Amino acid sequence: MENTKFLPMSGFIRQFLISVIRFPQFALWMALLCVAMANPLEAGTSPPIHHQLHIELNPDTHAITGSDRIQLPQHHRAGSSISFVLHPQLTIDRVEFNGQSLPVPNPSSSPIPEPPSTRRVVEISLPPLDHPDQPAVLTLAYHGLIDDSPKASGGLRFVRPDDTNGHIGPNGVYLTYETFWYPTWEKTLSTFDLTISLPSDWEAITQGRQLAQTVTDGRRTTQWAITLASEALTLAANQFVVHKQEWKGIQLATYLFPEDAHLAPQYVEATIRYLQMYTDLLGPYPFTKFAVVENFFPSGLGLPSFTLLGQGVVKRGYTQPYSLGHEIVHSWFGNSVFNDFAKGNWVEGLTTYLANYYYDEATGNQEEAFNTRRRMVHEYNLYTVPDKEYPVRAFHHKETRMDNAIGYQKTALAFHMLRREMGDKAFFKGIRRIIHEGTGTYLEWNDLLQIFTKAAGRDLGWFFQQWIDRPGAPNLKIQNILVQEDPTQQDRFTMTGTILQTEPPFTVHLPVHVDLEGGQTHETIFTVDRPAQPFTLHLPAIPTHFALDPKHHLLLRLQRDQLPPMLNKWETDARRILIRPETMTKEEEQGLAALFQRLDGQPGIETIQTNDPVISEPASYLLIGSSARRLLESGSFTGCQQHLDIQPGEVSIKDQTFGGTEMAFLISCPHPRAAEHTVTFFFGWSPEAVKPVSRLLFFYGWDSYLVFRQGKVIARGMFQPVHSAREMILNSP
Ligand SMILES: [Zn+2]
Repeated sequence: MENTKFLPMSGFIRQFLISVIRFPQFALWMALLCVAMANPLEAGTSPPIHHQLHIELNPDTHAITGSDRIQLPQHHRAGSSISFVLHPQLTIDRVEFNGQSLPVPNPSSSPIPEPPSTRRVVEISLPPLDHPDQPAVLTLAYHGLIDDSPKASGGLRFVRPDDTNGHIGPNGVYLTYETFWYPTWEKTLSTFDLTISLPSDWEAITQGRQLAQTVTDGRRTTQWAITLASEALTLAANQFVVHKQEWKGIQLATYLFPEDAHLAPQYVEATIRYLQMYTDLLGPYPFTKFAVVENFFPSGLGLPSFTLLGQGVVKRGYTQPYSLGHEIVHSWFGNSVFNDFAKGNWVEGLTTYLANYYYDEATGNQEEAFNTRRRMVHEYNLYTVPDKEYPVRAFHHKETRMDNAIGYQKTALAFHMLRREMGDKAFFKGIRRIIHEGTGTYLEWNDLLQIFTKAAGRDLGWFFQQWIDRPGAPNLKIQNILVQEDPTQQDRFTMTGTILQTEPPFTVHLPVHVDLEGGQTHETIFTVDRPAQPFTLHLPAIPTHFALDPKHHLLLRLQRDQLPPMLNKWETDARRILIRPETMTKEEEQGLAALFQRLDGQPGIETIQTNDPVISEPASYLLIGSSARRLLESGSFTGCQQHLDIQPGEVSIKDQTFGGTEMAFLISCPHPRAAEHTVTFFFGWSPEAVKPVSRLLFFYGWDSYLVFRQGKVIARGMFQPVHSAREMILNSP
């Protein structure tokens, strides 16, 4: 007779199978979110305009003097006048057309835009040409001041570069397409012969190749050839220490501030590592040089043949693992194959996937690759609100955390899912086709669909419709799990159940892991494409744990109570309470000053000053300093009891004990009575221990606990979420 055993499912799932993850080195996630600097304008197809541009910069007085000899392709001067854009603070001194002087345009005829806009259109009437094929050369001389000091972009951590439309000053020079520091024809590609003159202790860097350099009379003059047509010319200058080195015909360089110049070998070495991997994967590097340039304001900018990284990022060295690789990948995507911004932005998501994620997977760091997928899924879920989110196709550029979650993280995961759908061979064939077909032109999502469809040999329209055109992600639930035993079968245990998803359903290939008694794991993939999908599994031993996509290969919609506790849950909660100590020693106050300063400017935080905190409200809490320590020491907080023990001078987390005055802790626990909220504690055993962490606290938002010694992470990991729709522990018989 058949012996049937029913294994009832447990109520809520109490275990989340994320192991303790320790990072080999100090690694800040998302410290730098890159912006590929391309002109956010619609694609143009006209032949390039050639500029012979000479500029003189005087940082002390914010002054620029320029002369530009512009060869206009025929169609640019089809009418009787031409117009271009120039910074409103620049005065035109002289205009010539084919050697003939023309009246200088009257400034009042072109209205000066309201700051901070630097877009001012200048129109010049042209005399008729003798014959239509005659070359058309416009020469302009101009001068003025460009002084727009970068302003902090705000927020608890860096999301986008500080705001500036271009700056010339003693602290640095940054001139970009938004500056209109030379006569600019929008929607048009240009090439340049550029001469830059600066004080002799300054160094300039721009696109293209440096041809010559002279120093005379206290001025340094460099000549550059920018022969690859570009949408926009960016120039940076500062009192850099320059280091150069050749690698396989590519000139590698660093332009670093004197105090960071010792980091040059690290950056060159890291650049070589990335170039090696990405030239193998993507094909020849598109430019003749690559330079790492330190910026005087926070930024992560990927420009043709160089990258501008803020000093904070540079100082952390290449142990900040993603920024440099990300900018290097932009050499192909964004700076060679252009993005048609009017029709969306696929470039950031693909660059994020190949750099911030795929580098680890390809180099065998599976633990870090897993962590990145997990953080991408968590970021999407924390920073998008279901009824406010928009589809990937509607992302253009990043202003907010939600833009980042959709345009970078969700899009990167969409490429990951596409790769799993197509298989590696076809996917990377498609990636190389994007470069092959797209270099020098503009591609949009529909072009990518065609390219991947061709590479896969089958239509992928449904995939793009689901992940690029439709907002959201599958919201799954496990139901009706039943296990029956039949000793006459080879696989004695039959497990049945249903995967539910909210409508309209997504089609996904859902990885399923079943842990079996005796330590084995049964792994399989369900194709799920309907609101209620029944399944049957035949198993050789009793299943003890059932999990959907435990390795985070899919983007799934998770509710707040299904996410592990972490500081970012506090940051994203509709109700946030900050508890600060009522009384502090001078030293404690100094140790936490940078954190308080950061928090003070943030809207929507309820602040309580008390030495005896209680967790009473349905809200997320952040407790800082002695307030945090006291509440944990009191034993009255029950949110983390099973993982955490605190004794005078030491903290035990899971099975490890950390003691000593140089230790600081950032620990997040579920709210004891409301699982969608979190309670985060930040404290240390001395003011010196918290000080170095205090400034960067919000870069550590993705872990349930972090232990710092002298500011360096020595342990980190996750606590389980209170609820999970994706996992269940099956009771033992
Ligand atoms: Zn980027």
